[in-house]
Amino acid sequence: MLKKLIKISSAIIMITALFIVSSITVSAAAQMTPHGTARWASATATINTSNNSAKYQKIWNKAVKAWNRTGVFEFTLTSDSSAQINASTNTGLGGSFTGMTYITTGSDGYMQSVTSELNPQTLDVYDYSTSERVNVAEHELGHAIGLLHNPNRASVMFAANRYYSIQKVDTQSVQQLYATQMDRVSMRNKKILFRDPVNVK
Ligand SMILES: [Zn+2]
Repeated sequence: MLKKLIKISSAIIMITALFIVSSITVSAAAQMTPHGTARWASATATINTSNNSAKYQKIWNKAVKAWNRTGVFEFTLTSDSSAQINASTNTGLGGSFTGMTYITTGSDGYMQSVTSELNPQTLDVYDYSTSERVNVAEHELGHAIGLLHNPNRASVMFAANRYYSIQKVDTQSVQQLYATQMDRVSMRNKKILFRDPVNVK
């Protein structure tokens, strides 16, 4: 009887251990960042970062370079006011927001124009370092490409992202979005707004 009990309990322990191991494996496997259906016609867009202070133009340009380095999307810098994406700053976003991105799609179903903004005031108040500000800028450009929020912290698209640059879970999602056929992604005349909360240290 006792032997049998020991056998059963050790079996339970084994099963429990196996379960814990398998659930650790599952949670460790990074989840791909979700994307919406709104996107550009191809994985490329023009961006104007010239309407900024020298400091913030540098931050936006670093974020542009970081995305370009991944090879999954190509931003072309321009000082043309008709750029597809305009990236600037706005202290009027509200004290609890570090950034925002506003997207409109056209009658052809593709993205037509995007405005991305950083909030210098909140970034100052919460003492974001320059590289953390670049991470927020990369996040806004992620929206400008078509990415949604990732509930996991280890993604540039975590809503309150402060500490992460672009991750594989993010680039994989961009690749998937831009490999999708247009008849499945059409979003005509839509307006989409993302407002990103501060990450209090
Ligand atoms: Zn966001």
